[in-house]
Amino acid sequence: MAPTPIEKMERLSEHLGGPEIYIKRDDLCWGFTEGGNKVRKLEFVVADALDHGADTLVTCGAVQSNHCRLTLAAAVKEGLKCRLILEERVPGSFNATATGNNLLFNLLGVEKIRVVHGGSNLVEEMEEELSDLSREGRKGYAIPVGASDEIGSLGYVVCAEEIIEQLRSLGLSMNYVVCPSGSGGTHSGLLAGFFYNKSDITVLGFNVGRDREAQEELVFDLTNKLTAKLEMDQDIDRAKVCCFDEYVGPGYALPTEEMKDAVRFVARLEGIILDPVYSGKAMAGLIDKVNKGYFKPDQMVMFIHTGGVPALYAYNHEFL
Ligand SMILES: *Cc1c(COP(=O)(O)O)cnc(C)c1O
Repeated sequence: MAPTPIEKMERLSEHLGGPEIYIKRDDLCWGFTEGGNKVRKLEFVVADALDHGADTLVTCGAVQSNHCRLTLAAAVKEGLKCRLILEERVPGSFNATATGNNLLFNLLGVEKIRVVHGGSNLVEEMEEELSDLSREGRKGYAIPVGASDEIGSLGYVVCAEEIIEQLRSLGLSMNYVVCPSGSGGTHSGLLAGFFYNKSDITVLGFNVGRDREAQEELVFDLTNKLTAKLEMDQDIDRAKVCCFDEYVGPGYALPTEEMKDAVRFVARLEGIILDPVYSGKAMAGLIDKVNKGYFKPDQMVMFIHTGGVPALYAYNHEFL
């Protein structure tokens, strides 16, 4: 598959007057139903599902989950069925007539949606679904939240290698790569991929839900599972796992003023649309770090646009 574009954010860099900022357009990940970072992970996970002879993908996520939308789209492409378990992380947030990803769940022909309370045991919920399928003589395959296991996250090990190659051919070198850090597969895959390839690019993760300590532990653990899978006999240095939690606001998927400002700012300066849950909060963090002098003016920073644009349409009341 062709690499996703790397572009300079010319006007944003100029306006902020800090480091040179680039963007990697994983929101354009092969035009797969609006793209996004889950495409890279699903490439590995769905191959594993097919190897296991599955006829149905089962996965879970929040009520406007991009991961659920892309898993469903991948199922459609492979001629599989798909069942979704949606977790109401914000109580009462499921709306069967909502636009955004919810509209796409319906349009793409989801077989079944089951809504569960926030904090439910999603692994158990998915197992229940697999048992139901097996009683019907079918074979399900459960994909964890965000496809962030040591199979799916290999998609971002590949992305790290893609970045190294692209930068080489563009004659650029980056000091930092910045990404949102949610279920952690993107962040961990990049860390493992750069480590494996002996790149000294620093990865900065901007949390979207957890506090710093919990997210860093999650990413550290997943990164080490990946390096083990890559048959490296060395764990990553714990100090290389860096997460910021000060841009989460009141909680996962809950808007902040800084997120809204960042989404508007980038739309109006660059013509690029970010999402309200992940890339918008990560960009708010990046802008704040630039303003606070975290980076030196001669440094180079690349933002990974992880997608999520359809979710924005379910937040129109926040922007109009
Ligand atoms: C899932 C998601 C993320 C978070 O990526 P993880 O690998 O789960 O940490 C970021 N941005 C968007 C748009 C997503 O859908």
